[in-house]
Amino acid sequence: MSRKIIEVIPEEILKGDLKNYRKKALALGATDATIISTDEIIIDERVRAKCLYPRCEGYGTSAHCPPYAPELDETKRIVAAFSYAILIKIDAPPDTIEKDNRTVALKHSDILSQIEAMAFYDGYYLALGFGGSACKSTFCPTEECSALARGQSCRFPFQARVSMHGAGMDVFKMASRAGWDVYPVGFSTQPADVPYVSHIGLVLIY
Ligand code: SF4
Repeated sequence: MSRKIIEVIPEEILKGDLKNYRKKALALGATDATIISTDEIIIDERVRAKCLYPRCEGYGTSAHCPPYAPELDETKRIVAAFSYAILIKIDAPPDTIEKDNRTVALKHSDILSQIEAMAFYDGYYLALGFGGSACKSTFCPTEECSALARGQSCRFPFQARVSMHGAGMDVFKMASRAGWDVYPVGFSTQPADVPYVSHIGLVLIY
């Protein structure tokens, strides 16, 4: 049931809601979730540089990836307009590096979208998620991005979002500051090299 919109949500209600979103994320299968203030969101030009040098195969292939993702200044302004966010992760078994990484990415996106929707109907109507992976590889691996076609929109408007890294957020540093152990996974990473593979996203709440 939707809550009535009120302009300023009292602190005690906000704090209770944030705890509920964390609990809900865990109930939906997140490995962990943590409430952060938005001044803990780290935006760094070097993250966006990694999309370009060397150029990622996803660059320019979806409306949610650079160069179509918001520029760093825009992301900074959006983030600064919020006070709280919830960081949500799934640690997947290392063998997902070689097989079925997409199933985990879809599950993680589903959790983020459910939390964003929950917040929306609670009156945080500007709640906005940032994903843990590029939407092209997660949702449309074999199709052209419809959102880039004239007169069309995204096929997955309630699930697909700009990824944290696509928006220039330093996910590793933020996760590390949240007390989470995270490991870099690259083309040469073998399942034996890492204890798990982390998928991390966030929802800006209020
Ligand atoms: S249509 Fe597919 S690739 Fe394009 S923005 Fe939506 S989810 Fe991403």
